[in-house]
Amino acid sequence: TASEAGWNLDNSYARLPESFYTRMKPMPVRAPKLVVLNEPVAAALGLHADLLRSAEAIAVFAGNDVPAGAEPLAQAYAGHQFGYFNMLGDGRALLISEQITPKGERFDIQLKGSGPTPYSRSGDGRAALGPMLREYIISEAMHALGIPTTRSLAVVTTGQSIIRESELQGAIMTRVAASHLRVGTFQYAAAKGHVEELRELADYTIERHYAKEIADDQNRYLALLEEVIKRQASLIAKWMLVGFIHGVMNTDNMAISGETIDYGPCAFIDAYSLDTVFSSIDREGRYAYGNQPKIAVWNLARFAETLLPLLHSDEEQAVKLAEEALGKFAELYHGHWLAGMRAKLGLFGVEADDEKLIEDLLRIMQQHGADYTNTFRALTFGRLDEIAMSCSAEFAEWFKQWQARLGQQAELPEAVLQLMRDNNPAVIPRNHRVEEALDAAEKRGDYSVMEQLLAALSNPFAHSPEQEAYAELPSQNGRPYRTYCGT
Ligand code: AMP
Ligand code: MG
Ligand code: MG
Repeated sequence: TASEAGWNLDNSYARLPESFYTRMKPMPVRAPKLVVLNEPVAAALGLHADLLRSAEAIAVFAGNDVPAGAEPLAQAYAGHQFGYFNMLGDGRALLISEQITPKGERFDIQLKGSGPTPYSRSGDGRAALGPMLREYIISEAMHALGIPTTRSLAVVTTGQSIIRESELQGAIMTRVAASHLRVGTFQYAAAKGHVEELRELADYTIERHYAKEIADDQNRYLALLEEVIKRQASLIAKWMLVGFIHGVMNTDNMAISGETIDYGPCAFIDAYSLDTVFSSIDREGRYAYGNQPKIAVWNLARFAETLLPLLHSDEEQAVKLAEEALGKFAELYHGHWLAGMRAKLGLFGVEADDEKLIEDLLRIMQQHGADYTNTFRALTFGRLDEIAMSCSAEFAEWFKQWQARLGQQAELPEAVLQLMRDNNPAVIPRNHRVEEALDAAEKRGDYSVMEQLLAALSNPFAHSPEQEAYAELPSQNGRPYRTYCGT
């Protein structure tokens, strides 16, 4: 089924029992226009980027056509949304098929914003341009930061407007994912109460994502739970280390593959504070920055519950196995986080007081409202005048202790600098920069601001002069935000 553009499709998900999806085609749109194309992702998928700008290819991104061999469908799933369980499903997305890459890897090709489905409930099945571009930008930034994530292949505008608080331009994003299997997919199967279908889903998941990790002689479903816990512990630690707030960690937005998925009200923290919440709908701060590890465990507990009938024939035993597995998350997470923090501070090896050194710094940063990203960057390059709390006695004392710890290790300053450069990004998708890019695109059809931002975000550890502008905080009263010691 390989096409001229390079589509080489096989929908393994469509071979699951029919209750897991509804086969259907996307609803055509009036006047599709390609506004962003991700050439590196296209190449990795085995697609020919130059052919993806043709009308035929754009018709695929718009859902006006499906490539040969595609088996489009809407996936069924459930999920706890802000703690409340609902039966859900792709309400404005379709899995077009899975692309087999030249390396033999398999990726979901999903259209987001492709029209109503049986799971749309009261929604219109559509997406606005701003949020689709936002997902494109942030997911690409996350990838460049070395964080597992879905990718974005393309965004098209539909030529149709959609109604939100105001009239907005409609758009469709083509999302590329290791899969769209979610904690919520298992919750859906468990809610249906059909254990054999649940087992099929679990076997499918193991084969698709954990074939290497899980051997046949193990309790394979317990192993699945343990492996998913491992990947989430690693993922959430990575989020915390770059200051990423997902914003809607509902169980339907937690991917079993360990990728970050569903970029809605997500954002990066500026001032370091565990309480930070950006999403206006998260009134109680359930998904605040500092809550993310706890929420991950809560979600994984929901995942474990779905697996109970597969873990052991005796329910009490099954619960015991699940609890043991869940109990390992905290230590796994903490280990990843601590290792990452050591790297951010240039610390090689392991010393007993490292954790206190790290916690002290974060506490001082929180007290002084220090910018998370730029503080670590200033420490990397010894630019102490750029640090909000550089005048405080507490920071001076901390700095002395940090220098003493660095002095105790055998590694040369060049190695310390390299470690810190590689672990402290210069550029993150700053909220004001993302807004500026979306504004230019939405209001003026000018995508150059976004392209420049994407270029800066694509190499966050370059620490080049061109990146300086993107490291700056939003200006206040027209001046760059900066604090100085005394007079
Ligand atoms: P999310 O909060 O983005 O994870 O979405 C939660 C659920 O709402 C998913 O089942 C989506 O498919 C559905 N949904 C979100 N927006 C729309 C929309 N405009 N039309 C239909 N369904 C939607
Ligand atoms: Mg979602
Ligand atoms: Mg969403």
